[in-house]
Formats: sequence, structure tokens, C-alpha cells
Amino acid sequence: MAYRIIPETKSRFLKIKCPGCGNDQIVFSKASSGIKCLVCSKELASSTGGKLIVKAKEFKELSS
Ligand SMILES: [Zn+2]
Repeated sequence: MAYRIIPETKSRFLKIKCPGCGNDQIVFSKASSGIKCLVCSKELASSTGGKLIVKAKEFKELSS
């Protein structure tokens, strides 16, 4: 699975599809800690050194 790394400078909302249960979840790219699926608690992304590492294959950037 290819991870996607979101640079800290680009703060925006991401819509991540949980690879475990298919739930769509909207997260903020500047999350200070890991993000877990609200439905099945699978880890969707982790935060390392100010970067968000998305562990889901499908995600969409939401332009605001
Ligand atoms: Zn899930």
C-alpha cells in the first residue's frame, strides 16, 4: 500500500475512505495525532514530524 504524505504547510481537509469498512471520514491535514476510523477504529493516518501520513488508498482533497 502506498502511503501519501501531506506536507504540514498545506493545511486542508481530506476525505479519507477507510480501507477496513469503507466509511468516508473527513479529517484535517494538520491533525496533531493519529486519525482513526470512527466506525471500526482502524488507523487511517498518522502524524510524524508535522506531516500527515495517510494510510488509505482512497482519499480526496477538499478545496475550501
Ligand atoms: Zn473503518
